[in-house]
Amino acid sequence: MKTTVTKISCDVCKVEILTTPKTIKYPVIFHTDQTEGRYSKPYISIENIDICEDCANKILMLDGWGAQGLNEYKIRNN
Ligand SMILES: [Zn+2]
Repeated sequence: MKTTVTKISCDVCKVEILTTPKTIKYPVIFHTDQTEGRYSKPYISIENIDICEDCANKILMLDGWGAQGLNEYKIRNN
């Protein structure tokens, strides 16, 4: 019998995620191009990020309320 274990690490802090991992789409400000990694004018790209609970609590700062597309958003104030 062969068993395969997949370990997932947080893309931000690199710590192994031991609980159920969250993969989120998140806007990232990139400072390099994606072809050769050269510095470029900063640009925003939506990326799929595997993230641990601690990092999620730090970067997810927009709360929302609403229904059927009529939503309100507020930046969380810690
Ligand atoms: Zn993390």
